[in-house]
Amino acid sequence: MREISNYIRQVIIPEVGYVGQLKIASSSVLVVGVGGIGSPLVIYLASMGIGRIGLVDYDLVSIHDLHRQIIFSVRDVGKRKVDVAKSFLNARYPELDVVVYPKRIEEIELRNLLGKWDVVADCTDNVDTRYFLNEQCFLAGMPLSFGAAETFLGYSIFFDFTQESPCLNCVFKKPPADCPLGDCSVMGIAPYVTGVVGTLQAGDIFKYLIGIEKVSGVLKIVDERGCRTVPFYKDPECTVCSQLKREDKDRFSKNSPQYIEVEEAKSICRQRKAVVVDLSREAIACKFFDDTFPMKIESLLDDYLCIPKDKEILVCCETGVKAHVAAQFLISKGYRACFFKLF
Ligand SMILES: [Zn+2]
Repeated sequence: MREISNYIRQVIIPEVGYVGQLKIASSSVLVVGVGGIGSPLVIYLASMGIGRIGLVDYDLVSIHDLHRQIIFSVRDVGKRKVDVAKSFLNARYPELDVVVYPKRIEEIELRNLLGKWDVVADCTDNVDTRYFLNEQCFLAGMPLSFGAAETFLGYSIFFDFTQESPCLNCVFKKPPADCPLGDCSVMGIAPYVTGVVGTLQAGDIFKYLIGIEKVSGVLKIVDERGCRTVPFYKDPECTVCSQLKREDKDRFSKNSPQYIEVEEAKSICRQRKAVVVDLSREAIACKFFDDTFPMKIESLLDDYLCIPKDKEILVCCETGVKAHVAAQFLISKGYRACFFKLF
């Protein structure tokens, strides 16, 4: 866990506070593409106190990258970007957990990987990869921060993939013949634009994780005039988010409660209308989850009726033992429940 006191200048912001900082410290972001946009993004993710950062990039550092990929220097040329980035981040924050994936995203088993992270950040410069990530994140209900830049233009969008959320394909249809989602090695790029886009993504992720404001559904455009925002909405004809069927893992069995990891519980709570029933002795889950019902297992029989029946229920306790029993009881009462342990 990151040391909260190191972020005191951030903690004293009323909208952040100690609880907000704890949420940041217990969160994780998978960054796909450690280039011009990914560089400032990972710096600010680390600086805000994120607990875990994943880096996906198969590429090596080239001398042509240095003008915009600000975490690399001349001595890094020829080395794997993910390794250099990990060293750079851990030199600033030794306690930061950095996981590297020196592969193309298409080579990774995403189905298993996505559930381990709270947010995915797309910082790639490849059209196919962007639409692949958009589709995969939509299907998994995984929040996606998108960033792209070329010449003097930059774009940043956050998709929370709730029911009403648009997707990348709603905004820029694929294949985008004249759209701004090209390859900067062909079109060229001004370095400060990637800096702004990566920073905007960091801001959206920060606000999303602590719930300061709704960040989804707004396109941020960086151009010669500065930065402006354009609201946009789901396209009912979209071939991705309106026509593909989202996977709904069968976590909520009708018979016996399924065990999930705490990271998965956080992910479910952010994406859907789920509530947490906290059976831990000191109501620990209240610090990490918004909709929480602290209870004692001894009084569950009397108190369970106050738990809303139209929501998915995630039951937790320190070791998972009490949570398992309680989840089983709730299922017998017609609830959709699964359980997890806090430690
Ligand atoms: Zn869409």
